[in-house]
Amino acid sequence: MGKTELIQKQKKWLKEFDGQFRSDGQGVIMCVVCDHNVPAEKKSQLTQHVVTAKHRLGLEKNKKEKREGISSTQGRQQMLTEMNPSASSYSHLVAKAFIHSNVSLNVLNNQHMKLLLKTNSNGFVPAELTIHKNYLPRVYDEVIDKISKELDRKKIWSSIDETTDAMKRFVACFVVGQLSAEKGNKSYLLNCEVLEEVNYETISNFFQDSIDLLWHEKKSRKCSSLHFR
Ligand SMILES: [Zn+2]
Repeated sequence: MGKTELIQKQKKWLKEFDGQFRSDGQGVIMCVVCDHNVPAEKKSQLTQHVVTAKHRLGLEKNKKEKREGISSTQGRQQMLTEMNPSASSYSHLVAKAFIHSNVSLNVLNNQHMKLLLKTNSNGFVPAELTIHKNYLPRVYDEVIDKISKELDRKKIWSSIDETTDAMKRFVACFVVGQLSAEKGNKSYLLNCEVLEEVNYETISNFFQDSIDLLWHEKKSRKCSSLHFR
């Protein structure tokens, strides 16, 4: 089974497990209960995982915590994020700072980084998983919105670059900017996607998806014709 097909299948499987697993969208599945990655090439691997002693104990513990008012596997850290507005905005700030400076979120597990963050927040440090789950999508939406507004009602140019990554997967990148005679206009890398294969169909679909992403609330503005060279 190809990677894209696997990712599509995993999406369906995860719905059956009631939020116990989370996907990174690239084929890696994490167990939210056990807080680690699990193999998921087949659905049976997930079915087998949820009956392991460790997972069942974790699930029990979560249910108990829920009953007692602690809302999730991340215990106190997650609870703070959900319930305390200042912790929530602090997490948002941390997410923005890390993502915009291209720093991997797993440095949140580094003890020195934790110490640094604690000194500004009365001891609160957002968990990596919390940032991934709740704040990364928010920052992503903000950036897409900003690009979308920047190019709203303007003539645009776009370019699709197809390359292979370190894992030899086909990766398509959609770059877009304002069509203008002025020099120094910004261009944006708007969308990247792993493609099963590279042909007219996958590239056309990727182009349409990218345009939909750019003009997300203005879907009536479809392109009248596509020409690829
Ligand atoms: Zn588990």
